[in-house]
Amino acid sequence: MSAAGARRLVLFDVDGTLLSAGPPARAAFATALEDVFGTSGDVDGYAFEGRLDPLIVTDLMRAAGVPDETISLRLGEALALYLDRLEEGLRARAPVLKPGVPQLLDALEKVAGLVPALLTGNVERGARVKLTAAGLWHRFAFGVWGDEAPCREEMGPIALERARPATGLTFTGSECVIVGDSRHDVACGLAIGARAVAVATGRTPLPALEAAGAHVVLADLSNTERALEAILG
Ligand SMILES: [Mg+2]
Repeated sequence: MSAAGARRLVLFDVDGTLLSAGPPARAAFATALEDVFGTSGDVDGYAFEGRLDPLIVTDLMRAAGVPDETISLRLGEALALYLDRLEEGLRARAPVLKPGVPQLLDALEKVAGLVPALLTGNVERGARVKLTAAGLWHRFAFGVWGDEAPCREEMGPIALERARPATGLTFTGSECVIVGDSRHDVACGLAIGARAVAVATGRTPLPALEAAGAHVVLADLSNTERALEAILG
């Protein structure tokens, strides 16, 4: 079977992989935490990459001494406020697409049997706000969101389950490809036997992505042909 004819589910991470939402996203997050919990904790020192949004709130607020019951009681409110402000912030300053992303999505669209989808730490509305502002929301068949599992490594099986109702096709783990910019993306792919394609356009340097066990690590997605080869294997 030729690579182009193989069935593939390609699961893209959002932040650091497809785009960077930049200062408006961080500001929206920090001010929402301040307004709801009275502190944003160590938001500037926190390593967001690859982590799930609801867990980021919990980690930061726990470290800042906010009681667990207060966190769980007001988590939804904090996320909703963050999303309102994110939407507003990105209207003024659109996300910056990573190099080669639209060209790669165009190329993937032409590969028979290939389904592009999302697997992200964002909650659904966060992903929708960011990708709509970047003009990419319509490019993906479905998504798995950051409030659907306790950690990223448990999101792969949800994607496999969701693929059938969303696309009418069934995929095994080895027919999946994870494309992401952090060790957590790589681990999430390896956990289901997927191919892990890492891209060093986030905060994790290329050697660390290699050490995490990615099948291929690219500096960025600007070379469409190379990126396509990396994904199709
Ligand atoms: Mg990322």
